[in-house]
Amino acid sequence: MAEKVVIIGSGPAGWSAAIYAARANLNPLVFEGTAKPEMIPLGQLAYTTEVENYPGFPFGNIRAFVESAVDSERHWNLPQPPDHKKDGQFHYAVQGLELMELMKQQALNFGTRVIGDDIIDIDVSSRPFKVIRADGEPVSTHCIIIATGARANYLGLESEEKYKNKGVSACAVCDGGLPIFRGKPLAVVGAGDSAVEEASYLANLKGADRIYMIVRRDSMRASKIMQDRALSHPKIEMVWNSVVEEVLGDGKIVNGLRLKSTVDSSTRELKVGGMFVAIGHTPNTSFLNGKVQIGPKGYIVWQKPFRTHTSVDGVFAAGDVADDYYRQAITSAGTGCMAALDVERWLVEHVSE
Ligand code: NDP
Repeated sequence: MAEKVVIIGSGPAGWSAAIYAARANLNPLVFEGTAKPEMIPLGQLAYTTEVENYPGFPFGNIRAFVESAVDSERHWNLPQPPDHKKDGQFHYAVQGLELMELMKQQALNFGTRVIGDDIIDIDVSSRPFKVIRADGEPVSTHCIIIATGARANYLGLESEEKYKNKGVSACAVCDGGLPIFRGKPLAVVGAGDSAVEEASYLANLKGADRIYMIVRRDSMRASKIMQDRALSHPKIEMVWNSVVEEVLGDGKIVNGLRLKSTVDSSTRELKVGGMFVAIGHTPNTSFLNGKVQIGPKGYIVWQKPFRTHTSVDGVFAAGDVADDYYRQAITSAGTGCMAALDVERWLVEHVSE
């Protein structure tokens, strides 16, 4: 018997799709992936601390709610609560990993089946399709929702790896407000729209010091309006024609960068308390082996505006794997919902019970 729908991925898009599909009696099967150096189950949000912009989760005693909602056998996976208290009780915005465990729980509550395995290939040459598990075993399914997300690109330096979460981050919005960065000069690497957003965000934080943008050329890739925003900001300083050669620190925390010129052989040290890498993202599509149309930037191409259909009829995509523009938890969840609704309609038209 073929599955009605297999969902690949376990970020906001995957779980939202699962919640909608399960409530529509489609009995979804989710492959949530395994932990790898570049990504972990529950996706990019699982790396972040407090999520202040996901609607429905204002500051509050989140911990009590999370512990009451999530099955106790998964409490081991919950992060330490931040030390913000009000009237003796926890008072903070939901943390990324808590939010993801809540989404997973909501999907489980409606009967979603979850397998902790990777899908390494898909066979869409005939229907029903097959998704291929890591051990080579195929699973037959009428529809597929691809929700494997994207991952932030890093520079690939050994010292960068060493100081991840100790002053190196790929998300200013997630981490910029943390005490380790507060009031210190900071660096943002990159010169695209994301880098400008990151730099502006950091520069506008209360008590912000100087924010350096490390740009490898003598011009920026960002759109004109974003360039103007960076260039006119009193706290943002451009460091042109430079790349990071090494992240410096005392072993526990970042305290500087060694920069190398891209026009001559000179190097210099820059004193900063943190480095935010904003050099783009890579969507997680390699397992598709080109069987679904991929655009020039590597993202899955939706075939119609505001619909989640891919180039293969019956295969749908949701979340960051198909979005190089918004890339927010809430937009990802929204397109996950859309994909489940698209699957529901597709099954009515194409598959008789
Ligand atoms: P981009 O690909 O647009 O920019 C990447 C930047 O990183 C470039 O400046 C690039 O330099 C630099 N870079 C890449 N690799 C390295 C490296 N190894 N060392 C140093 N620098 C490096 O990615 P973004 O994430 O900024 O944007 C992706 C898309 O999302 C774009 O279409 C953008 O317009 C959109 N977006 C829009 C926003 C908005 O409108 N508010 C906000 C955020 C994103 P180089 O130019 O030399 O290649």
